[in-house]
Parts: sequence; C-alpha cells; structure tokens
Amino acid sequence: MTTLTRADWEQRARDLKIEGRAYINGEYTAAVSGATFECLSPVDGRLLAQVASCDAADAQRAVDSARATFDSGVWSRLAPVKRKAAMIQFAALLDEHVEELALLETLDMGKPISDSLNIDIPGSAQALRWNGEAIDKIYDEVAATPHDQLGLVTREPIGVVAAIVPWNFPLLMACWKLGPALSSGNSVILKPSEKSPLTAIRVAQLAVEAGIPAGVFNVLPGYGHTVGKALALHMDVDTLVFTGSTRTAKQLLIYSGESNMKRVWLEAGGKSPNIVFADAPDLQAAAESAASAIAFNQGEVCTAGSRLLVERSIKDQFLPLVIEALKAWKPGNPLDPDTNVGALVDTQQMNTVLSYIESGHADGATLVAGGKRIMQETGGTYVEPTIFDGVTNAMKIAREEIFGPVLSVLAFDTAEEAIQIANDTPYGLAAAVWTANLSKAHLTAKALRAGSVWINQYDGGDMTAPFGGFKQSGNGRDKSLHAFDKYTELKATWIKL
Ligand code: NAD
Repeated sequence: MTTLTRADWEQRARDLKIEGRAYINGEYTAAVSGATFECLSPVDGRLLAQVASCDAADAQRAVDSARATFDSGVWSRLAPVKRKAAMIQFAALLDEHVEELALLETLDMGKPISDSLNIDIPGSAQALRWNGEAIDKIYDEVAATPHDQLGLVTREPIGVVAAIVPWNFPLLMACWKLGPALSSGNSVILKPSEKSPLTAIRVAQLAVEAGIPAGVFNVLPGYGHTVGKALALHMDVDTLVFTGSTRTAKQLLIYSGESNMKRVWLEAGGKSPNIVFADAPDLQAAAESAASAIAFNQGEVCTAGSRLLVERSIKDQFLPLVIEALKAWKPGNPLDPDTNVGALVDTQQMNTVLSYIESGHADGATLVAGGKRIMQETGGTYVEPTIFDGVTNAMKIAREEIFGPVLSVLAFDTAEEAIQIANDTPYGLAAAVWTANLSKAHLTAKALRAGSVWINQYDGGDMTAPFGGFKQSGNGRDKSLHAFDKYTELKATWIKL
C-alpha cells in the first residue's frame, strides 16, 4: 500500500522521463518516417510526450524481427518451464515498477491513480504470471487409435501474433493477450491505442530485462488506423488479436479475408443489462453495485452496466437508492488518491458522451442525475456520472455503446419481458441478475445471450474465468486456459507402428 499524496504524485509526474519511441528487436527506435504525434494528458491537457507514429514500413520491420526470432526457436522452442520463469520475472518487474507504471497510465488515460495502482498494474502482472505459471502444466493428447497406430494431438505456437488494443485499460488489455501469447511461444507485435500508448512502450523493455529474447515482443505505437491496418493486412502475421470497438472489429475481419486469412480473435463492445428483480436479496447492495457499474473507470468499460432493468413494482423505491449511491462517485483530480472518477480519455470521447446526453434529452428520457461537463478550469475532460430514467430500449442511449458514465433505467413487469429487453441488442458481452430465487437466477442466466453472467453482483470473475462476448461483442475468449486456443495451432501426428 502506498502512502503517496497528490502532491507526491504531481512531483513525480513533473520528474517522469517518458519514452515515446517504438520498440523493435530489443531497441527503442523512431518511426522510419520520423513522424510523431502529440500525446496529451486528459488530466489537464498537458503534453506528455511526442510518440512515434509508425506506419507500414515500421510494421514490416517489426514483423521481420518477430518472424526471424520465431523461426530461430530461441523462444518458440524453449522449454515451457523456462518460458514460465521469464514470464514470472516479467510479472515481477511490473510489480516492482508499479508506481511508475500506474502514474504513466493515469496521466495518459485519465483514470484515478488508486485504480491504476490497485487494479490495472497488479492485474496486468497477474495476467502475465497466471499464464506463465500455466504453461508447463498443460498436456497434449494421445488419440484413441487402433492398436497399430499412434495418434498425437499437439499444440504448437502459431507464429507471429499482432495484438491491437484499446485505451480504457491500456496495459491490462494488452497483458490479457501477452500472457497466453508469449507463454505459448509466439512472437508478438503490440499496437497500443494512440490515446494511451505509454505503458505498452515502457513494459517492452521490462520484457527483455526479464529474459524474454529481443525480437519476441515488439511495440508499435501509431496515430489513427495506419499501423494497425498494416499489421492486419500483413501476409506474414499469423494471428490478429483485438480488443476495441465492434466497428473496427468488423473491419479487421475484412482485412484478414483480403490478405492471408490470418486468424482473427475479437473482443468488442457491449451494452450490458443489469436486471434487478423485486425479490433481490439486498436492494441497497444492488443499488451501490448499479452505481459503480456505470461510474467505475468513468464508464469507459466494455462491460459497463449501462442498461439498468428494474422490476416496475420496486422502481420508485429502488431508483432513489441508485441516485444516492451515485453521489459517492464524483469526478476529481486523478492524481488525488481519494478520487474515484477521473477524466474521460480525451476531448473527442468527452464530446461523444455529451452528445449522447443530448440525445437522451431529445428522445424524451428524464435526467435524474448528473448530465454536465465539469471542472473545465482544469483543462481536463470531466463529465458527471449521469442517470436517465424513463428510457425505452428503442432510444439511442439504450441501443448504442456510449463508453462513458451514462446510465439508462428501463422498467419491466415480468421475467420474460426482462429477458426480451436484455437480449434486444446487437451485443452480448455481459449481464447481471439480482434475485433471491435460485431457479429464477439460473433460468434467467441461461436465457441471457452474454459471455459473462453475474448473479447478485456486478463484474465477478478473475483469471480463471473466460472473458468475451456472444454476438457482435466478439469471438474467442481472453483469460482462463481457453485463451490458449487463440495462440496455438492443433496438429495431428499419425504414426504407423
Ligand atoms: P477502437 O476500435 O477505436 O480502437 C481499438 C484499437 O484499434 C486502437 O488501437 C486503434 O488504434 C485501432 N484501430 C482503429 N481502427 C483501426 C483499423 N481500421 N485497423 C486497425 N486498427 C485500428 O476502440 P477504442 O475506442 O480504442 O476502445 C473502446 C472499445 O473497446 C469499446 O467498444 C469497448 O467496448 C471495447 N472494449 C472491449 C473489451 C472486451 O474485452 N470485449 C475490453 C475493453 C474495451
């Protein structure tokens, strides 16, 4: 536990040396073109760094390095027990640099320093460690062959993996992919979001320090879609793993078809329903959970509980509890350890969120909390956690992913109606159900078309649980042993005895 104060963090922010170059073949390097872009902090608009703006020429360099390293076998054919040791050491170095990395994450992305320090960076280290620890405990298979045959079913690393990640949990989303991708022997090129590239750039060097050979893990920052597109279209990238919006995810499937049919695994958007039945065991707990489900990480969470479905008979009792609970979630300076809501990632995202608030008003929903930009004098991008009541599922604020702290409240009368509304979305990432009735909980959970369902809580799970979406929330799963499926090819070797 750190005892650093806001003044301490501000001093450290002033002293911080920030690396903005790409990392290829074990070295920091400028983009071939020499281009850079400005990385601004949403905390107060300050310039943090000039960051390399990579393009197709840099993608080529990184793929060449990743391919050569993969083919050399220096990592891909290393004994799993040795890869395990390096991954655990990589995790330990993240833990050792937790304060530096947390500060970078907060300055770059705007999230509260307490979250970066207690959730993002430890969670990233844990993802590396958990997958590293697993890799020498996974066995292959022997097929049920006739007596004169031996059938081996083995997993092999797939080769060169490109990982394109979003800005909301920059290092955590990267490590959910780096953990299984690196542990299983692949070479990886990580493309962080242009809105939050700094921790990815920093940890590349820690990987080499941990004993992962140069060239195995490369980082290519870039502005806009240029370098991500170059990787997605590259003929020598074997697998593309992605977390980000559904719109980009669909485009990546096209790029794969237009190039080498690389495997594409997608973790995309969500519009998750949080269903509160009248027989919920603890309405106060449900209300507090509904508030954190929309305010945590400024609502910039793929699984944000953005649609609160409340049984009509308790709505007048329940909604005031949610409004009261949301008062505990107040935007403040992200470098203050007591802040629990930080800045939205940038001006563009803030304007998107504000335009959805406008649309809620225009469609006739009733604003019952928040609704405004605040703290403008700081130069940062802060919006109050917001609740609209009287929302119908046809309204834009109920249909589209806002990716900000805006909650839509919808009423229902029966379990069938709740399930119908919950599933009436192109997304299928997560859902929650609050009821004391065991059968109702299970039957509703089974009927929900979502990759994660939580009962009497919101956002449960750890590294042991697969995470990913039904429908247009994606395919494949991050976390758990299932994640290794994305990073390995299955081979059948059939031997005549
Ligand atoms: P985004 O799709 O705009 O960008 C994601 C990444 O893709 C970035 O690195 C971006 O530079 C890159 N990119 C954009 N266009 C590209 C293109 N044409 N070709 C190649 N790369 C391209 O998403 P975002 O705004 O960074 O992130 C927010 C989204 O991420 C939300 O929809 C959220 O739900 C989703 N998300 C999903 C999960 C999950 O696990 N399902 C987790 C976190 C975030």
